[in-house]
Amino acid sequence: MKRNKVALYIRKSREEDNGKEETLHNQEQTLINMCESRGYEDYEIFKEVESSIKYDRPELLKLMKGIEQGKYTKLLITHIDRLGREIGLLDDLKKLCVASDVIIETPDTIINFKDDNHDLMYGFSSVLADFEYKRIRHRLATGKVNTVAIRKKWIGSTAPYGYEYDKNEKILVPHKERRITYRKMVDLALEGHSFSEVANKLNSLGMFTQKNNRWTAGRVLKILKNRTYLGEAEYNSTRLGRKVTATDCHEALITPEEFETIQKLSATRRNYRSKDNWGKTKTPLDSLVYCGRCKRKMSIQISKKYSQARGHWHFYQARKCIHPNPDGTRCPNSGCKIDIIEEYVLGLLAKYKDNLTNKLLSLQNNDTTEAETAIAIRLEALSDDEKKQSNRLKRLTDLYLDEMMDKDEYESRRKEMLDKDKAIKSEMAYLESKLSNLDVSTVEDKYEEIIGMIDSYKDMPLEEKNKTMRLLISRIELTKATTTSTPKIDVWFMENL
Ligand SMILES: [Zn+2]
Repeated sequence: MKRNKVALYIRKSREEDNGKEETLHNQEQTLINMCESRGYEDYEIFKEVESSIKYDRPELLKLMKGIEQGKYTKLLITHIDRLGREIGLLDDLKKLCVASDVIIETPDTIINFKDDNHDLMYGFSSVLADFEYKRIRHRLATGKVNTVAIRKKWIGSTAPYGYEYDKNEKILVPHKERRITYRKMVDLALEGHSFSEVANKLNSLGMFTQKNNRWTAGRVLKILKNRTYLGEAEYNSTRLGRKVTATDCHEALITPEEFETIQKLSATRRNYRSKDNWGKTKTPLDSLVYCGRCKRKMSIQISKKYSQARGHWHFYQARKCIHPNPDGTRCPNSGCKIDIIEEYVLGLLAKYKDNLTNKLLSLQNNDTTEAETAIAIRLEALSDDEKKQSNRLKRLTDLYLDEMMDKDEYESRRKEMLDKDKAIKSEMAYLESKLSNLDVSTVEDKYEEIIGMIDSYKDMPLEEKNKTMRLLISRIELTKATTTSTPKIDVWFMENL
């Protein structure tokens, strides 16, 4: 299908119900002007005239259908807010735009959800965050903070461990003590402990579950894989007929980076099942060596030797793979001394370290000063606004107390001011978090930590060596034709550079 059409969406928003038809006309004119100045010749106008029924927006639905069919390349609106404040619908629209490569343009911003020119580290997420933020601000401004929370599927059931459900605010809030246990769990997992080890440590620290039970690997797993802790919530979209995710629903207790790292660690190891090797680390490569032929995990065994000249000695080896094949034969992969594999892996780690060092240097040279200054200036202005707002409120109260104003007017103006104050505070919080996202020091810290681990590997005790390997490497595949042939070793890193 030919795709060069641009969709224009116009809508009278609810707040302007006392407003005029002119608003629609103005929007239309603005968008048509945009098309002319940007050279978009072929456009189609979607004009939402009536919105008497809640959430029923036939034109937007028609437009979304068109996007899904790949009819449009761009969607023009005068302001993001025109799309409405219904979070589910916005999420659906966002997904459709991503799927169909549609760029949203307003007179002053361009939102391209697929733009990978943005630095993946923070650029993309802040584009999203900007978009999300406008929604939050809108909800705050209209007093509909919890539109999302109300629809969450956990409503009525128990809040996830670490949270409690605030009935008045209709939102999940962190539980004072349990959030600490949750964070302990996260930190332990990030240190490279398996789910069973995390459970054991928590139990030994006297930190138990909500019902005062002991933690098990399964319970820990369930919690660490739960995206609710990211501030997300899932709900069923009747429009798309599938589950969609809403973000910023409540305070997050884990960062996306931490969450991802834990998922990576667990996906590659599945070590919550391997109760058999607790505290019995045999080699630095335990749980990491797989057969290059049949792809199954190779077992590591000790090989004891004796000779008259040398006396007794032993070494560990990845045992010859004898897994049965579907045709009844056995996998013919040969075994290999762990020392040999380890030496090879250490060679790769040295190169990995060089790459990290280079990356670290380029991060340190990456100048974000300009963006930081812009945010700082905006924050300062907001802080002034906040003060002014609080003075206004004082004056208003004085007027009321002096009986210059009746109660109704006072209440309504006070509410207006408080809403505005809330919006200011929320923008400040958002900008502050954006400022810290611009700060790459957490990534730098992480890289520096990895470099440090590689440097001190030689002097680590065995168990720590194994932890380090498992933190850095997800999988090692060994392929060896015969006992005497040279092994082929493939290594997958947790994080590719
Ligand atoms: Zn095999």
